[in-house]
Amino acid sequence: VSSDWRARAERLSDADMEAFWMPFTSNREFKSKRRLLVGAAGCYYTAEDGSKKYDTLSGLWCASFGHGRPEIAEAIAEAARTLDYAPPFQYAHPLGFELANRVKQFTPAGLDHVFFTNSGSESADTAIKIAKGYWARRGRPEKNRLIGRVKGYHGVNVGGTSVGGIEPNRAGFGELMATGHLPHTLLEENRFSRGCPEHGADLADVLEQQIQDAGAETIAAVMVEPMSGSAGVIVPPKGYLERLAAICRKHDILLIFDEVLTGFGRLGATFGAELFGVTPDILTMAKNITNGSVPMGAVAVTDAIHDAFMETSPLEYDVEFRHGYTYSAHPLACAAGLAALDVMERDGLVARAAELAPYFEDQLHNLKGLKHIVDIRNLGLAGAFQIEALPGEPGKRPWQIAMAAWDRGLYVRFGGDTVQLGPPFIAEKADIDHICNVLADIIPSID
Ligand code: PLP
Repeated sequence: VSSDWRARAERLSDADMEAFWMPFTSNREFKSKRRLLVGAAGCYYTAEDGSKKYDTLSGLWCASFGHGRPEIAEAIAEAARTLDYAPPFQYAHPLGFELANRVKQFTPAGLDHVFFTNSGSESADTAIKIAKGYWARRGRPEKNRLIGRVKGYHGVNVGGTSVGGIEPNRAGFGELMATGHLPHTLLEENRFSRGCPEHGADLADVLEQQIQDAGAETIAAVMVEPMSGSAGVIVPPKGYLERLAAICRKHDILLIFDEVLTGFGRLGATFGAELFGVTPDILTMAKNITNGSVPMGAVAVTDAIHDAFMETSPLEYDVEFRHGYTYSAHPLACAAGLAALDVMERDGLVARAAELAPYFEDQLHNLKGLKHIVDIRNLGLAGAFQIEALPGEPGKRPWQIAMAAWDRGLYVRFGGDTVQLGPPFIAEKADIDHICNVLADIIPSID
């Protein structure tokens, strides 16, 4: 760890911390009990006091191949020296094409065209605009509503916020896009399921009802995460996604999988689409694509969707899709992406996640019966403990657990009434034991 970063952290006074309005953070609490990170290597962060914190969530589900990969760092530095920035509108650089071809090797067959963004949120909003734009180009502009799912998370831009279904994230912003929402799939009878729960495939049939009510001719796409991560690892019931896909196909509605969190190995398969054998029309990615090292997202689409845009106009100099970001296919992000996917493939990390998953599942479920734990859910290397809410204060206990875990050497993600785990794919069984042992101590000990 650079001693300089520790010194820089030390120099920050309370007053110095006022200017940075931190994202998705209880700013007032943080600034009274700061948790500054100054380094990362492998599965550990280093905090400003020099203590190590095990990274139980791979950053934010994004640094899954382990921190501090030298190949990625070198690729970023080389790109910064060679071509620090290239305009992506009407000009390009070779790495953008290389990375699109690399991504295409991993996406399900038929999803062969890749649009680059800078984040999961931008990927979600890009996917929504592609879906609406597709139907407009097919002469059906009225087919433009999106259907999401309660407890779904598609980032924080207006489209993703609208289609998303975590209510506190939607409230208080006035008018959003008009969308429908399918019910979530968290069922009482599925508590403590290992992997995909038995009950609830029929919840997909609610889509039929919503189509009857609104008319298929008004619905552009259904957008779901194959596994909802941010709302606390909500695993699809057996057969649910297949059913959803069949209904979409029957009614000529596009299916969008948001694989920002599940993409590149989290479920023990390269994508959720692969694990479930369900191929969407549009698939969004971000996070692991660069192992979290440089912001980047991507949206992969079918030939049919891509061609509908390409055939828009007979004028060859026309822009087919008036959408894109200053930093789409940024050279540093492309370099990081190429290096990260090489590491993933070379080290067999997706297979490693799949191998470790059953052990992870066993260790998590060993905590069943502990005070406060009312559900345990898992799939691949994603897991969550649902903590019984204090009346009126659903977020308090998970926060208390995470703060106690920090003091015991774990960085733990807490959100809503859950504590979430998504260890790096390079984790060892002993790491999983350690995480579960520390949490088994802490969880029952809080009020
Ligand atoms: N979509 C999904 C499924 C996510 O899990 C996330 C982030 O957790 C996002 C979108 C938003 O990504 P970002 O924070 O990079 O904008």
